[in-house]
Amino acid sequence: MLSAEIIAIGSELLTPERSDTNSLWLTQKLNDIGIEVKLKTIVGDDEARLEETIRDAVKRSDIVITTGGLGPTEDDLTRQVSARALNKTLEYHNDLEVHLRARFRAWGREMPEINKRQAYIIEGADILPNPNGSAVGMYLSVDGKHIAIFPGPPREMQPMFENHVFDRLKVAAGDVIVKRRVLKISGMGESAVDEAIAPIYVTYPDVQTSILFNKSEVEAHLWLRSEDSIQADATLEEIAQKIVGKLGTAVFSIQGESMEEVVGRLLKKRGETLSVAESCTGGLIGSRLTDVPGSSAYFIEGVVSYSNTAKMRTLNVPEATLQEFGAVSAETAAAMAEGMRDAAKTDHSISVTGIAGPDGGSDEKPVGTVFVGYANGGRSKTMKIVLPGDRYLIRWRASQAALDYLRRQLLKAT
Ligand code: ATP
Ligand code: MG
Repeated sequence: MLSAEIIAIGSELLTPERSDTNSLWLTQKLNDIGIEVKLKTIVGDDEARLEETIRDAVKRSDIVITTGGLGPTEDDLTRQVSARALNKTLEYHNDLEVHLRARFRAWGREMPEINKRQAYIIEGADILPNPNGSAVGMYLSVDGKHIAIFPGPPREMQPMFENHVFDRLKVAAGDVIVKRRVLKISGMGESAVDEAIAPIYVTYPDVQTSILFNKSEVEAHLWLRSEDSIQADATLEEIAQKIVGKLGTAVFSIQGESMEEVVGRLLKKRGETLSVAESCTGGLIGSRLTDVPGSSAYFIEGVVSYSNTAKMRTLNVPEATLQEFGAVSAETAAAMAEGMRDAAKTDHSISVTGIAGPDGGSDEKPVGTVFVGYANGGRSKTMKIVLPGDRYLIRWRASQAALDYLRRQLLKAT
């Protein structure tokens, strides 16, 4: 298996304001063709450290990819420093200068003389054209090592990688492919999931499994390197089905979908509609649902009714209910869902009311207490949960719990 390392270059990437996202994107692409990223480095615009990093990188890794620092200014050092680190010279390419001048003229400007630097290329390197910027990239193979040098802006780097480097690395990596599956599980903890499914995945030693907890759900990541794509898919499908057999409806996706995508898919399949009445989630559920393209087919309306007055005026929640049971109660959640259903005339309505904190909790209803309501046709039901976390997490988890509650109702109804 070929090893790769990625060097993100630029002092701004060492500040709290900017982060290196290029390496995330590149890692995904490399993993897809069976190349493992063993190391990532972020180096500021510092000649000595950059030279040392590149020298070390080509010693230890089969593939070295750098991004950033190919611009025309004084602090853009990648060109000359990488040449030095590879013991190569820079060669002037007149055609690149001519091309650059023409580009600038097309933008209605004269090329500043400093841009001439961008016409220098490491000897023996292939030029990687950059249709979206002035800095071309470079690709070279030295002593069996592959080195690719890209400009920093993602919209420049990504097409350059895809169009000019991906295929070369794919050939270098051989015919192995990597197949991946992500299963998502709700309503269970990480260790409970692992305990239940470990007996399944240990019987597949070629498949790597990791169980991760992610804000409001557990993910089981399965991946497999193979030369046989169809066989690999079949193996992953087999494991996925065994896990579903074991965990049942707790598994909400075997294809890595989000909860809002799953709920949307179920509603669409049934040709049914949804409306949402939100209090403590403040519109998060509506926002998540409408993140999914095509959601207009089933999502009709969302209401954020934060105050008691709004709950009464917009959702017809009886004043007596609010007074007797409080805004955060099963009775109010049910009334919100029913009021929403009656107003929007949807097949299904969900509601959420809770205490997101940090204040407002009591002994009886501590911070994190959330009631989820569901109404369809002539009936409604509610669920109480007490969620851990800060305000952000409680709101997020409440939105997830409400969508999951709906999902489970939809599955029951089929
Ligand atoms: P340019 O000719 O555009 O200056 P360059 O190769 O010199 O190209 P940089 O100056 O290093 O590129 O970076 C330009 C911008 O690209 C940065 O301000 C940043 O927004 C983005 N960028 C650079 N490196 C990364 C990275 N690793 N991840 C995400 N964005 C990046
Ligand atoms: Mg720059």
